[in-house]
Amino acid sequence: MANVRDRSAELTPAILLVDMDSFFASVEVLDNPALSGKPVLVGGDGKRGVVASANYEARRFGIHSAMPMANALRRCPDAVCVPGNMARYAEVSSQVHEIFASVTPIIEPLALDEAFLDVSGSIRLLGSPLEIGHAIRLRIKQELALDCGIGVASSKQVAKLASRSAKPRIERDRVVPGPGVFVVLDEDVRSYLNPMPVRALFGVGPTTATKLSKLGIETVADLADLDPSMLERHVGGSVAHLIVDLANGRDTRPVEAGVKNRSIGHEETFTHDSYDLADLDQRLIRQAHAVANALRSSGQEGATVTVKIKLANFEQHTRSVTLEEGLDDPQAIYEVASGLLATHDIGGGVRLLGISLSALRPRGGPKQLHLRLDDPTVADPLVTQEDRGALLDALDEIKRRFGKEAVGTANLLSADGVISPGQRDIAFGAKDLTPPKEADD
Ligand SMILES: [Mg+2]
Repeated sequence: MANVRDRSAELTPAILLVDMDSFFASVEVLDNPALSGKPVLVGGDGKRGVVASANYEARRFGIHSAMPMANALRRCPDAVCVPGNMARYAEVSSQVHEIFASVTPIIEPLALDEAFLDVSGSIRLLGSPLEIGHAIRLRIKQELALDCGIGVASSKQVAKLASRSAKPRIERDRVVPGPGVFVVLDEDVRSYLNPMPVRALFGVGPTTATKLSKLGIETVADLADLDPSMLERHVGGSVAHLIVDLANGRDTRPVEAGVKNRSIGHEETFTHDSYDLADLDQRLIRQAHAVANALRSSGQEGATVTVKIKLANFEQHTRSVTLEEGLDDPQAIYEVASGLLATHDIGGGVRLLGISLSALRPRGGPKQLHLRLDDPTVADPLVTQEDRGALLDALDEIKRRFGKEAVGTANLLSADGVISPGQRDIAFGAKDLTPPKEADD
């Protein structure tokens, strides 16, 4: 950096996206130094467990968050699996936020470990956005012994992407350190975005990406020079304008301080109290689909899954987990919710059941592939996340055309044989949570 002039103070506004590196897993290592240097996975190790966080030692094996735990452990049998402690992560998160708050009051949290900061008003006092970024990293390292990657740009879209460029990356099976803070000046936005696949843009989901691909549009560069009116009849007018703007780096969404975490949920009060976990589980599947549809039609995903129950005696209980990645997939939402439901004591009868997703964020940011079809160690040939995304988009399309009843996945059928006993295993935090007292299996 010594011979590169720091021009980050020219950015207007100056937006930082700070994203903690493998946050949950790093906190676990911090709290238990014996884990240092070992591959660490946070998540339930039950049959339906999901990886909520993996440290870089584990990522060397191709493991990452939202991957089924069983697969992760097949890739790396020596990995240490810990159940996770959300209260502890929230505590560390608030310490991180205190550091943010010492820099600027304009903070928009995206998740426990991620936030946008508008530092435009802090430059005169604290230095350039690049210097502020390095100072934040240093304080987080010195005071909390944790790492983060920081993207700096004049828009949220580019700051978010730049934070990924700031981070360590896996090359072959080695961890290559990143620059820590990565600045994209306005004049460099086009050349920075150009080689990226269109999927990297907010607002380009798998359906849109497929349509664009059919038109020969694969990269942001292909998209940036198009006249949006040429795209309107393929992807719709508003999407056409949005994505061409984003491809050109035009994104005027401000950092919104004090935005409350909104949520999208679905709940039902039953005509008769339910005492049957399998029955509740069936309702949960339908609710997961309803919530996923609502998320997808609003172009969002949610990182926090909450299950709420009200007992026959009107006592109300909620349980939540937060994943590092946002979910909009009904099966994934269901699996996490089912794990949470299994931790409730339903012996007294349940009169209300609901799922909600919060920590909402725009859907369609870059995602890593979760599973490989060609992995011979994977017993069940599972589809990749992207394939699954394409499938879900196809289902959405069919429902739009033929009505909501036209299609459903097999587990929406209520035949008893469809649900496997394993579906009641706890999806996340198995060791941390009390098993159901009235389990009938
Ligand atoms: Mg993170």
